[in-house]
Amino acid sequence: MTTSSQTTEAAEDTGPAKRVLLAKPRGYCAGVDRAVISVEKALETYGPPIYVRKEIVHNRHVVDTLRERGVIFVEDTDEVPEGSRLVFSAHGVSPAVRQAAADRNLQTIDATCPLVTKVHKEVNRFARDDYDILLIGHDGHEEVEGTAGEAPERVQLVDKPEDVDQVEIRDPSKVVWLSQTTLSVDETMERVDQLQGRFPDLQAPPSDDICYATSNRQYAVKAMAAECDLVIVVGSTNSSNSVRLVEVALHAGASDAHLVDFASQVDLAWLEGVGTVGVTSGASVPDALVFQVLDLLAEHGWDQVDEVTTANEKVTFALPRELRKDLDENPDKPSSVR
Ligand code: SF4
Repeated sequence: MTTSSQTTEAAEDTGPAKRVLLAKPRGYCAGVDRAVISVEKALETYGPPIYVRKEIVHNRHVVDTLRERGVIFVEDTDEVPEGSRLVFSAHGVSPAVRQAAADRNLQTIDATCPLVTKVHKEVNRFARDDYDILLIGHDGHEEVEGTAGEAPERVQLVDKPEDVDQVEIRDPSKVVWLSQTTLSVDETMERVDQLQGRFPDLQAPPSDDICYATSNRQYAVKAMAAECDLVIVVGSTNSSNSVRLVEVALHAGASDAHLVDFASQVDLAWLEGVGTVGVTSGASVPDALVFQVLDLLAEHGWDQVDEVTTANEKVTFALPRELRKDLDENPDKPSSVR
């Protein structure tokens, strides 16, 4: 007589060969690394509490860990006691937020990713030249709010396909598109094509606004998706680039794809009948969370892991100037915590 567990084992034994394809690059980008280190160094240098406006990066684990260490996350500057120390998140802030912080005499540390700052500068430049700026991005995303806030009277947000029809411009020869840094490369180009249909003289950004980390992670998942019966993306639901990785995987041929914050969220039913599992992670995800997913997969027989490398990233950013100054002046400079 065969027990049900024996039946399952037999079925598993005759199933497809189990292997994991692990995308590289994945996980932390230079902007996230800088933002998280900035908060850690601020905690070490000044002591808690350190206030952070919004989530420093969109990852539950990172935010919860920093909260346990004395960081207080706030939605806006008016929740921060006058004179306290406030870190701006990697997603950037508008000039109005900077002014509100200055009005409360807050000591700010700007952890805005330099690649987001680059887009802010583009907005300022084109606004100065009296262009209409079509910002492709997700309505309500913090980065978009900060970027649009540089020149609200000149920026129009284009999110969904139907938004293209709503755009109104003053001079068809002076219109440019810019974008959020963490969009799907392919979807953005679809939106650009649509816009070009309406505005043939539409100008492109001086250089790519979608950042190297977003496009590299999408390229890596695309390279392996067609071979995967299932792709697991580690990342939070409010992380734009993580959500995009799920979409890109499905679009590039993965049979199934899911987003999980933690290994415990992997539903074992997803693994039924599956041979090849692809694993990747968003730009705000520490690799420790990916290894926990790999451990879980190994426990269930997926213990052969092949890394699929499509790029080697070497980008790093210096810490914010305000923080560097105090670190340099502090003789007991904190040791690196990473
Ligand atoms: S995803 Fe790109 S823009 Fe965002 S923090 Fe990372 S490097 Fe900067």
